[in-house]
Amino acid sequence: MSKQKEAIIRVLRETSSHPSAEWIYEQVRKDVPNIGLATVYRNLRLLNEAGEVSEIRTSGDGTRFDYNTRTHYHFHCDRCGRILDLDEPIDTTIEARIARRTGLRVTRHHLELGGVCLDCQKLETHTGACV
Ligand code: ZN
Ligand code: MN
Repeated sequence: MSKQKEAIIRVLRETSSHPSAEWIYEQVRKDVPNIGLATVYRNLRLLNEAGEVSEIRTSGDGTRFDYNTRTHYHFHCDRCGRILDLDEPIDTTIEARIARRTGLRVTRHHLELGGVCLDCQKLETHTGACV
């Protein structure tokens, strides 16, 4: 495995923030100063194809990356844009139900919930108190 790829995986493993390629690039540069953004994009694509990281297409602000490749649900904050993992059991019945009703062969599903995260709710309260 290339030094670049290792550095990218290390950055992803050490964050829970579901970063963008650009953010990953900024972090990887600290380890591998001469790396280019195009190399980061290419390696992320290859890692995603190999199933070593997963690419998440979020509503609104583009593609993010996740070291956790197991099926899990996300919460996307409308205010700060953060994506949080939800510790929620996977609903396996939805796939069977839709397969039965439509005849489609359903093999996976993704779920993204949206709203306002706890930190942003706190900020709302504080701002509210000052007005
Ligand atoms: Zn937030
Ligand atoms: Mn995740």
